[in-house]
Amino acid sequence: MGEFLMQWLIIALAIAIGWVLGFFSKRRTSSQVAINKTALEERMQLLYSSYSSESLESLVSNLPVSKDTLALHISIAGHFRKKGEVDRSLLIHQNLLAYPGLPEKSIEDITYELAKDYMSAGLFDRAEALLLKLQTSRHFATKALRKLLDIYTQEQEWFKAVEVAQKLVQFKEPMSGELTHFYCELASDSLRSGDLFEAEQFYRRALDCDKKAVRPYIAYADFLIKRGSHKEAVSYLRKAAEQNSDFLCELIPRFLVCAEALKEETRFRRYLDELQVDSSPSLALGMAESLRQELGAEEAEKYLSRALLERPKLITLDRLLDLRMDLAEANTDVAFLAAVKQVTTGLLKEAPRYRCMGCGFAGKQLYWLCPSCKQWGKIRPVQGVSGL
Ligand SMILES: [Zn+2]
Repeated sequence: MGEFLMQWLIIALAIAIGWVLGFFSKRRTSSQVAINKTALEERMQLLYSSYSSESLESLVSNLPVSKDTLALHISIAGHFRKKGEVDRSLLIHQNLLAYPGLPEKSIEDITYELAKDYMSAGLFDRAEALLLKLQTSRHFATKALRKLLDIYTQEQEWFKAVEVAQKLVQFKEPMSGELTHFYCELASDSLRSGDLFEAEQFYRRALDCDKKAVRPYIAYADFLIKRGSHKEAVSYLRKAAEQNSDFLCELIPRFLVCAEALKEETRFRRYLDELQVDSSPSLALGMAESLRQELGAEEAEKYLSRALLERPKLITLDRLLDLRMDLAEANTDVAFLAAVKQVTTGLLKEAPRYRCMGCGFAGKQLYWLCPSCKQWGKIRPVQGVSGL
């Protein structure tokens, strides 16, 4: 019974494949191609949802390779890869590549798909070797270089990433944003190995690449603070604030360190006043902290109370409670303040501090490369009542 059923399944699948092949073999005008692409995808999806991987694999292994069936072979292999069955897609692409007499364009097509299989399987060295062959291809050069960039980013091979990004620039691809991050990563590597001179060179290149980026200004300011060049660091922090006020929560603590080192608290507060960024609680917290350091907790508490009424933010309330508890007399309701403070701190711990504008990934830490969608510079501090 089982064998009988299997025979019927194979016959039914053969009919379905013939039905799909009709799409690949018919010659069409360019205006028909777009309309038919959707219909073809629908047919392929129906095919994939109707038959098991085993049936599809059995049929594709018996399907002759020709210019009419090649796209179907590649499509079925791609379906296996999407399902996570990389072994099956690898086998199909490797067999296709061994087939003699295929046109150059088809060989490149299969090579590119095979490289994607190797990447899915985590075999980056094999994928890299294939993609390097395609980097001079008329049809696949930019796609191959983009995949190479993915590999070098995952492997943190930043010199190679720079090299590939520069090649993409020659193909008119906008790469300044990514290059900035690669140079910042190289600078971090140099710092870790103790080469300060080299690190500074990389920061300079990062700053030259993309004048609108925030990261190199922040990173270079950190470098200058560690070196004790606080005055110079302030000028880079100011530029970062001009570029993007969303990152004030990152900048204010650094400004505070510089202001304290330079004994320029008053000047720092004047600067914050001039910034006039209404929505950022970080600015109010920075102002309060500077007041606390120079004039004491009472001045800071007065300022933060006004700031909270003007712009109610969870983090402002949390800090205000800290100051109130510090100033509270023994007979005032310290226990009540402590209980409220427990609530605000709990809410702050649960709330994400950063969110990716590309995929929505949320977390507590600022990543320049989103761990989820792998895009550079898409993560921003969260705004709103529980924002920074
Ligand atoms: Zn993302």
